[in-house]
Amino acid sequence: MSESNLKSMADIASLCKRRGFIFQSSEVYGGLGSCWDYGPLGVELKQNVKNSWWKAMTYRPDIEGLDASILMHPQVWQASGHIDGFSDPLVDCKECKSRFREDNIDVTKPCTNCGAKDSFTEPRDFNLMFSTQMGAVEDDSSKVYLRPETAQGIFVNFINVQQTMRKKLPFGIAQIGKAFRNEITPGNFIFRTREFEQMEMQFFVKPGTQKEAMEKWKEIRYQWHLDNGLRPEMLKWVPHPDDKLAHYADAATDIEYNFPMGWGEMEGVHSRTDFDLKQHQEHSGKNLTYVDQADGNKKYLPYVIETSVGCDRALLAILCDAYRVENEGEKDERTVLKLHPKMAPIKVAVMPLMKKAPLVEIADKLVAEIQQSYKVEYDVAGSIGKRYRRQDEIGTPYCITIDYDTLEDNSVTIRDRDTMTQERIAIDKLDTYLREKLKF
Ligand code: ATP
Repeated sequence: MSESNLKSMADIASLCKRRGFIFQSSEVYGGLGSCWDYGPLGVELKQNVKNSWWKAMTYRPDIEGLDASILMHPQVWQASGHIDGFSDPLVDCKECKSRFREDNIDVTKPCTNCGAKDSFTEPRDFNLMFSTQMGAVEDDSSKVYLRPETAQGIFVNFINVQQTMRKKLPFGIAQIGKAFRNEITPGNFIFRTREFEQMEMQFFVKPGTQKEAMEKWKEIRYQWHLDNGLRPEMLKWVPHPDDKLAHYADAATDIEYNFPMGWGEMEGVHSRTDFDLKQHQEHSGKNLTYVDQADGNKKYLPYVIETSVGCDRALLAILCDAYRVENEGEKDERTVLKLHPKMAPIKVAVMPLMKKAPLVEIADKLVAEIQQSYKVEYDVAGSIGKRYRRQDEIGTPYCITIDYDTLEDNSVTIRDRDTMTQERIAIDKLDTYLREKLKF
């Protein structure tokens, strides 16, 4: 059997649209630039990505969860450096008006869009934060920003969480939430969008211990991607060179995935020193120091190791990685998403051979039982072969068929997505069977 992997992003975008994973935002109006809507299967997949992260990151004694507001006090962004420094250098082509990030193109060459020579404007800084007004009066004092990262919600709640949960260092705070960036050159489907979700964790440590904490978190985060089913050869570390470090960092490294358009950042692990807490302490005038009872009540600002992964990018990597075309061009060609079962939006499909009593009644009863534990799809349309192909394309690990033999032997056929093998199982053994197969 021949098997090929994903060749272009267009193939995955097309499958996502066709099968209800991801639609363009406001599509009936012609779409809105780089904004996407997750459809019925996409929202399940996204929930699975978030659950996997939340479980890995917060079901442990040294990390607490948080869900901070998207709108924050404008001074937060002054303190964090986003108002003054969160910008990309922008150049325009004077001929065709296309806009580029200066660091993404060679400005000494012709415009890649229209071919015009010497047509680029001087670079100017373009702040990536979206702003809006709060309250009824529109003036500068009512200006607020949509957060460009979730991290600051964690920093400003450091003392709240530490004190209410009586945490001792080292400990972390984790959150999942929307972030917004007015990206100049968005694209590659959901890789770079203007509204996206981040899953971030800030781990607060005693100054001087940040190096070992960073090594520990690097290992944990890399393993998370592997545990989601990504192939090891599709992942790599890309450390930031010292002269390219962000102003707040003393070390940083990215986990990159080999997307169809090339390697791209999926997650960053950053050693952020005490920069953020120091800034917020200074700008707010509030004492954010930690009293270390284990070290003679010494007072200090903790250092921070941050792990920051885009939910949408992690999801895109999971989709790209799972995509296979088997026996391409042959009569038995099939497209299959070999998703890790914990990521599959639908875990089990139930299919009565015919849309007739009593097969349908048995199927209804089975669906009612199985859906207490798993997301189930009920499918009665078309031949069984076609129904299997539909489920393969959305990555459903198991299909259960009810046929006329079921009436005799109280058994069903269960078919495995990857091996396509079929087994006969007694209905009263199904629960144990699925529990064993879908254990994660
Ligand atoms: P890039 O270099 O791709 O712009 P970044 O270095 O600015 O990313 P961070 O600020 O470190 O990214 O954000 C952490 C994570 O958030 C990224 O690794 C990525 O997964 C995700 N992310 C950042 N910007 C976007 C975006 N515009 N669309 C989707 N995900 C994003």
